[in-house]
This record gives sequence, C-alpha cells and structure tokens, in this order.
Amino acid sequence: MAKGKITPEFKIIRDMEKCVSCQVCHRVCSNDAHLYDPDAGEVTSEDSRCVGCHFCETLCPTGALTIRRNPSEIKLNALWSGRALEDITRQSSTGGVLLTGMGNDRPFPVYFDHLLLNASQVTNPSIDPLREPMELRTYLGGKPDRLEIKEGQKPEEVLKSFLSSQISLETPILFSAMSYGSISLNAVKSLAKAAREAGTLWNTGEGGLHPDLYPFGPHLVVQVASGRFGVHQEYLEAGAAIEIKIGQGAKPGIGGHLPGEKVTEQISRTRMIPEGTDALSPAPHHDIYSIEDLKQLIFALKEAVRYRKPVGVKIAAVHNVAPIASGIVRAGADFVVIDGLRGGTGAAPRVIRDHVGIPIELAISVVDQRLREEGQRNRASLIAAGGFRNSADVVKAVALGADAVYVGTAALVALGCHVCQKCYTGKCNWGIATQDPYLTKRLNPEIGARRLVNLLRAWSLEIKEMLGGMGINALESLRGNREQLRAVGLAETDMKILGVKPAGEAW
Ligand code: SF4
Ligand code: SF4
Repeated sequence: MAKGKITPEFKIIRDMEKCVSCQVCHRVCSNDAHLYDPDAGEVTSEDSRCVGCHFCETLCPTGALTIRRNPSEIKLNALWSGRALEDITRQSSTGGVLLTGMGNDRPFPVYFDHLLLNASQVTNPSIDPLREPMELRTYLGGKPDRLEIKEGQKPEEVLKSFLSSQISLETPILFSAMSYGSISLNAVKSLAKAAREAGTLWNTGEGGLHPDLYPFGPHLVVQVASGRFGVHQEYLEAGAAIEIKIGQGAKPGIGGHLPGEKVTEQISRTRMIPEGTDALSPAPHHDIYSIEDLKQLIFALKEAVRYRKPVGVKIAAVHNVAPIASGIVRAGADFVVIDGLRGGTGAAPRVIRDHVGIPIELAISVVDQRLREEGQRNRASLIAAGGFRNSADVVKAVALGADAVYVGTAALVALGCHVCQKCYTGKCNWGIATQDPYLTKRLNPEIGARRLVNLLRAWSLEIKEMLGGMGINALESLRGNREQLRAVGLAETDMKILGVKPAGEAW
C-alpha cells in the first residue's frame, strides 16, 4: 500500500536571478530545508522540511528567498479540511499523538476584537498623559477588607490595618511562565534582564532557577509545579513571589514532558534530575486532591518564606473556573492566575490545545464577578494570561476585571519568534525554543532584553493614552469597570457573561 503523502505547508521560492549560492540559507536552516550540491555549485530547497519560521528569508543577503503558504489546494470540503486529512495521514503512519507548540490557532471568536473602549467627550474631560501624571503602578497581593489609617505618622507607618506582602509592578504586564528547557538560557536571560529594567516580573515556569539568574530574583516569580523540578529552600527564597502551577491554558488537565534529549547537563542541574532523562510533570499534584490540600501547600510555602512573599495559584480557564478561583482565594492565595484557551506552550498534544478550555475574556469576567459577589475580590489579585497581542487587549482585560496580565507569545515575538509552532522539535532557528548551542547563540540576551523593554514601554504608553482618553488617571480605577466597554457582533448570552452592554446602549 502506498504511503500517505502530506502536501508541504510552505513553498520556498528561490529567485535564481538574485541567488548567488552563498549557502547562508543552507548553513542556517536547522530543518535542512536548503541543500547544497557542491558539484553543481547550487543551492536547492526541500519544501516538505520548511516550517515557515522565515529565518532564511530574513538572513538571505540578496533577498532571493520568499516563503509562501503552499497554494496547492485539496478539493474544497467544509468537513474534511486539508488539516483533517493531513492529521489522519500523519497518525496512520506514526500511530502517535500529534504535538504542537504555541497557542490555539483555531478560529474561535476572539472576544477582545468584539469589545470597544469608551472615550470622554464634553463632560468628564479626557486627560493628556503627556502633561498629567498617569498611574500604571500595580500592587499584586491580598488587600484588607477596610483600611484603617493612623493620624500624623510617617508615610510608611500610617497603615493600621494588616497588609499582607505585596508585589509592586511599574506596569500591569508580566512575563508569563517559560521554563529553562522549553526555551534557551539566552531567551530566559532576555526576559530576566528586561523584567528588572522595566520594573515587572518574569517567571521560572517549572524549570527551576539557573545559578546565573539568582541576581534577578527580586523580579521573579518562582513556580512550584507538579514535578517540583528545582524546588528547594534557596529557590523559594530567591523570588519575589511563589506561584503554584495547577494548570496551563494550552494543556488543561494534563502534565508536561521535556524529552530527555533536551535535558542537557545545565538543565539537569537546574531541574535536579539526571542528565538525558525525560522530565515528566504529572497531571495532578500528588499531594493535592481538594481545596484543603491546596490550602496546606499554600501555607507550607508561606511558612517556608516566613510570610514575606505572596503565594499565588495558576489554573487553566475551564468550565468551572469561577468556583475554582473562589475556592483558591478562600484557601489563602494572594493572587490567582487564569490561563485562557489561547495560552502558549513549548509542547502540547494538539488535540488538547485545540479543544479544551474556555477563552480568557469570559474567564476573567466570571471570576471577577464571582469574587465580587462573594465579597472577597480584594483578598487576591487576578492575573489573566493567554493570547494577549497588544495594549488594547490589556486594557480590555483590566476593564473586565483583571489586575494584570501575563504575556508569553508576544514576548517571544519581540525576541524574533515567527509563531511557526514547532517549538517542540527543539530546532528553533531564532534561538528561542532550543538548547542546541549552535542555535542558541543567535539570540543575544542584551539585544533581546532591549527589545522586550521597548515593547513594555510602548504598550505602557499606549495604555496611558487609552486611560487618558477615558478620563481615568489610574489603571486601578478601570479594574472591573465594564461600563468602559461595549460589545459589537456578540450574542446576548456572550454579553451577559462578559457583563458588557451592546454598542449604542448608554450608561
Ligand atoms: S541565502 Fe539567499 S543568496 Fe544565499 S544561497 Fe540562500 S537564497 Fe541564495
Ligand atoms: S519559539 Fe521558535 S520554534 Fe517556537 S514558534 Fe517561535 S520561532 Fe517557532
């Protein structure tokens, strides 16, 4: 029987009039999509190996290369799409689970694109952020039910009420959990340096903390995941906050797997596992089967750091997200991270990434609403994650009820990522999702950090512009203020869940 043939996803178009056979593309492509024939002195291409990362196109000195989506079309069929046929062909030859990287790319509605922001006109005039102070500073952590102030004291002594430990951010944007192992050390260093310079936080993910990165601890969230890789007292002490990872938007309900070939000597030391062995994170934490168990872990970690750092919990946005978040807050978490349907990953089974979970917009809204109804919204901060593409998404998330957001894919795009979704192969041409020393050199952490700082600065300026337009001078005043949002093209039920009125309806 003939082997099923898979049509290449991309076509490499080489303009032979421009190509000087310099072999740059042949040397740089980690997927061997460009072949050099020394006898003919010519470079040729193999379309089936191209993953669409555009690295060769960027580096070709003569501009001879263009990478296009393959225009070859199968007979149009609304049910049996090209992807459906390709998946069956692939699985019938390998018998394995289809893997992917990055976030869900299926055409589910992006609710942010159906929400529009308000702006002041005539009354409640807008504020010019270039001339007037605008406050983006965000404090994450539980706040007391009421504030009692002592009269006539120094500013640092004025608070009578007990305030648990807080994280102070200069902007409401943090870098989401990306482990050393899933991304290169240079990519991690870029994030760490940028977080320190921009006054925000980066996150170890479940990969432990490389010795070079301890100096970046004051701007770090250390994660405690089910595999407990690299978790020890010094690690917990190193960060500004601790995050217990229960779930992840790209793969709710399942564990993680870093293949042994990626567990290099350095990664093995950081994760405290033998070199070359698979790093498997179990799907559940084997000591958490109830909210009471979670409470025990939260307080064990608080004890471990003598209550000097906030302890949060990260979950995937699933159907029951509001009651789950409510239980987490009751269990004593200082912040809750909700990772939505479009959250990224280094590697996940595609069937899970594409079919499990709910969009982050709906999750933020229901969690914020539930915590308000229960009178415990102040007891924990809410960080939203999963597919934030621009500053408008951030502002809309805050208006729906988030205190801050995590960005992952956007940060990697700033470092050069072209979202080819092949992170799980470990052959990232941009030096990001790889441990190959030849490839990791391509990312200079100084340049990477500069680009990330620029991105955060640009988004922060835009957030101030949007706030000023609404006549709001502090981000905190926007949190959960859904009157500043209006919906276009959404069904009644969607608007009800989002708590947003249709465009055209007045206050
Ligand atoms: S990098 Fe450009 S010029 Fe050099 S061989 Fe490849 S296509 Fe030709
Ligand atoms: S990190 Fe690299 S492999 Fe992953 S999507 Fe981006 S470019 Fe592709």
